[in-house]
Amino acid sequence: MPLPSTYPDPDCSIARALEVVGERWTLMIVRDAFFGVRRFGDFATQLGVPRAILSTRLRLLVEHGVFAHADDGEYTLTEKGLTLWPVVRSLLAWGDQHYAPAGVSRILRHDLDAGLIDGDGRCAECGLVVPVPEIRLERGPGHSGGSAPGTSRLLLEPVTR
Ligand SMILES: [Zn+2]
Repeated sequence: MPLPSTYPDPDCSIARALEVVGERWTLMIVRDAFFGVRRFGDFATQLGVPRAILSTRLRLLVEHGVFAHADDGEYTLTEKGLTLWPVVRSLLAWGDQHYAPAGVSRILRHDLDAGLIDGDGRCAECGLVVPVPEIRLERGPGHSGGSAPGTSRLLLEPVTR
């Protein structure tokens, strides 16, 4: 069910942004793209999203230049898509703060110095706001799969099956 395209305040940039990324599943698809998912079937499996909905959401994201769809079938974040990282990171931090009783599910580290990255995207070691390609994702204690070794990887690094 798409959101109505007429908001009370059509001049509000939040309302306009939510027309692109505010529908159910869309930010989960974007999140998984940051986590290295690229193929339609992998998004479907990872998210458990109905394929018809996934297809609609991906088409919209490509139309809006958030994803590129290559000839080999892979979906990747564009430069515009990559600028959604602070949105995903902030939602992750907010969810960790309020809805993660078993502990955080994912830990973000600066790959260059292993510093923990805070909710503002800043590295505790070097103090920099860490660019996406230098962010390492690890499972935290609240992850349902546990924090097993070998489960750490860089953002955008393609998921291999
Ligand atoms: Zn650092």
